[in-house]
Amino acid sequence: MLIAQVALDVPVNRLFDYAAPHLTNAQVGKLAIVPLGRRRTVGLVMGLAEHSAVTESKLKQLETVLPSSIQFSKEDLALLRFCSDYYQHPLGQTVFTAVPPALRHARAQGLRPATIEYYRLSEAGRVIQPSHFSERQRGARLLLAHLQAAPLVNAAQIAALGAAAKRALRAFVANGWLVPGSMTGGRRDQTGFNSRPILTPEQAHTCREIAEQQDCFLVWLLHGITGSGKTEIYLHTIDAVLRAKKQALVLLPEINLTPRVEELFRARFPDARIVCLHSVVSEAARARHFLAAQAGEADIVIGTRLAVFTPLPQLGVVVVDEEHDASYKQNDGLRYNARDLAIYRAKQRKVPVILGSATPSLESYANARAGRYRLVHLTARAQPGAILPATRLIDMREHRSSSSLSKEALEALRLRLARGEQSLVFINRRGYAPVLFCPSCGWAAACMRCTARMVLHTRTGSLHCHHCGGVAPVPRQCPDCGERELLPVGRGTQRVEASLRDAFPAARLMRVDRDSMARKHAWAQALASIDRHEVDILVGTQMLAKGHDFERLTLVALLDVDQALFSPDFRAAERLFGTIVQVAGRAGRAKLPGEVLIQTMVPNHPLFAAALTHDYAAFAQRELAAREHAGFPPFVHQALLRAEALQPKPLQEFMQRAAQLARALKPRVTVYDPLAPAIERVAGKSRLQLLVQHRSRQQMQHFLQAWNEQLAAGNERRVRWAIDVDPLEI
Ligand code: ADP
Ligand code: ZN
Ligand code: ZN
Repeated sequence: MLIAQVALDVPVNRLFDYAAPHLTNAQVGKLAIVPLGRRRTVGLVMGLAEHSAVTESKLKQLETVLPSSIQFSKEDLALLRFCSDYYQHPLGQTVFTAVPPALRHARAQGLRPATIEYYRLSEAGRVIQPSHFSERQRGARLLLAHLQAAPLVNAAQIAALGAAAKRALRAFVANGWLVPGSMTGGRRDQTGFNSRPILTPEQAHTCREIAEQQDCFLVWLLHGITGSGKTEIYLHTIDAVLRAKKQALVLLPEINLTPRVEELFRARFPDARIVCLHSVVSEAARARHFLAAQAGEADIVIGTRLAVFTPLPQLGVVVVDEEHDASYKQNDGLRYNARDLAIYRAKQRKVPVILGSATPSLESYANARAGRYRLVHLTARAQPGAILPATRLIDMREHRSSSSLSKEALEALRLRLARGEQSLVFINRRGYAPVLFCPSCGWAAACMRCTARMVLHTRTGSLHCHHCGGVAPVPRQCPDCGERELLPVGRGTQRVEASLRDAFPAARLMRVDRDSMARKHAWAQALASIDRHEVDILVGTQMLAKGHDFERLTLVALLDVDQALFSPDFRAAERLFGTIVQVAGRAGRAKLPGEVLIQTMVPNHPLFAAALTHDYAAFAQRELAAREHAGFPPFVHQALLRAEALQPKPLQEFMQRAAQLARALKPRVTVYDPLAPAIERVAGKSRLQLLVQHRSRQQMQHFLQAWNEQLAAGNERRVRWAIDVDPLEI
């Protein structure tokens, strides 16, 4: 009797047995149709066995193995099993997180790892201006704007621009502005070297070191200051990997960074077959890219965290850029960290993995100091003449006015305007003001469904809850005392934008935050217009901090950074330091020297001392010592039980029981009391969380498995809960 052990997309942590007399080992890793209750569903064959705990009469028959082209290798399956165990997430659901949505259904199996086409802007296309088209030719204008931001696009990206742009595509090709290319058919051993710069001595040294250990598992922590040319190290290493006829996986924290990186890679490796995998790529394209990678037909896979699951039979190197970035951690469903899984994959394959950052996560840095990772440094900017920006603190205690910007900052902005250079004003809060306040009685607008204040947005003229997305009109008067003059308190991007408009009426401003960039392609268009020098002052959030290279940007001003210094979250300081270094890194990337101004009420804080001198090592040293003293990660391993419910009572009971269970379990771990998170209620649901920790990762894993089983056995239906392993936000 042959039994197929099948993973199903259901919230139960086990495999399902089916009789499958004709199955062979060659079919393990494929999708199959199986009966489940009264319906049929698609599952994934994880393995074969001779016996089943299910009695033979009750055993159902596996219907068919789909002749689909998806097939996970033994290694892929091992990764998925590890992921499920480590993150305490049901195996079937873990497996189906890794399968692209378009391949999850029986009917979508016809997709072949087909030729993937892309289009390249030609020399003739490069000189076309928007004015070439009439106002009515919106498709052509849209396509052009997109191409100016990313001169290499694939068919899926163009299709995503809409029908008008797709029609314009034909005209572009007919006019010779766009040249179609195909991913297959390229010869691997002819990588292009045309635009390759001469490596700096530091880069050359690092590349040599990595090359010497090309064929074994090693985690490289590439600590390079902003602008030090880390990308060049990736390109160089990948070049060697392609020559050895192997595949490369490149992970980026953010979708917004992928177009430029993709373009850069295509320019450098014109004959390599490069595919992108992230949530903006259409489902069909994602499926095709996935299959191309699995078939060994894609040479380079570039993607966000979900790309870490892409099957790569010839994997030769993994790159994790901006490895410190919290976006690598998924915060719902399968709460995995793609950086950590990337390391697991490299280990599986016995190949190197490069973690790059200007501000490595303290976890990675501690691993490097302990000798588990190999630390390499790039200490100088790569471009001749480019130096780190001069950084200054502005003591806001001397500025008693409520204006967002100090005299110094305004003066510095004025200077940039006069010189025709760009400036960036960073404030990590959207909206106009975070609080709408009644000066007579102290009332403040709060969300009905969350324990949170409503944020005033002037664009929509309403109050927004940033936690549940709720929107409410601005009251005409205080609901408690009738006061008519309600005061906006604090500031967000919109308010800063407004005060800049007052101060510099002639300047061209652009606001970059989730609200202003919500429209499709808004980001690509924004980047293009920044590049064309159509913007004098950028006002924006975190979105502007990451990875972008703005040629004429010479001034960065950071506002309202102090909260992080007083946050109860022990990682807040690490994030702030990272943000300052990243944002500061936007200034003076090219020939023009940059300047950074930080407005603060606590200029003596040691964090700033390290930030002013761009001294990551000093910051990390201090912070790690403090963490060790306090018993925080990376010196302990944590997990957080997160739970929510409509009713507080069952929630509390569940958490009390969870704490009791945890305290009774072996191995013993430190179990804290259940606590409410900073925002206690979101969208009408109460939330509680329970932190557990231990020095040993292995002990922690044993504990979590037992705890998870007991919690699941409790079958609590009124409470939604999940264990978050290695949580980044507590
Ligand atoms: P990082 O990712 O380390 O912040 P990048 O890889 O973006 O830095 O490189 C910064 C800039 O320096 C880019 O414009 C890149 O083209 C340029 N660059 C990199 N290496 C060299 C080099 N060896 N010579 C000249 N320019 C370089
Ligand atoms: Zn009032
Ligand atoms: Zn809300």
